[in-house]
Amino acid sequence: MRFCPRDGTLMVPHKKDGVTVLKCPKCGYEVKLSEKAKEAYRQRAEVAEEKKRGVMVAEERRPEYDQEEMEELRRQLLENLQEAERETD
Ligand SMILES: [Zn+2]
Repeated sequence: MRFCPRDGTLMVPHKKDGVTVLKCPKCGYEVKLSEKAKEAYRQRAEVAEEKKRGVMVAEERRPEYDQEEMEELRRQLLENLQEAERETD
């Protein structure tokens, strides 16, 4: 789950030009969703559903998406590095 960095509204998956993005329904802020992040989002949504059915769990407004952001960044950086390596080969 991601929250809009502008207003803290929960962002919802939204298809755009065949690409899934997370869009803030309030201000329209968009962030691209990678396949990996999409999968993580889906899994987390399922966990949230299970939580709802089970015992009420205190909702953590955690900075988790920052961590996800970092992972995505690191992954992209790695890909770029690998591509650069191939080019200099
Ligand atoms: Zn927003």
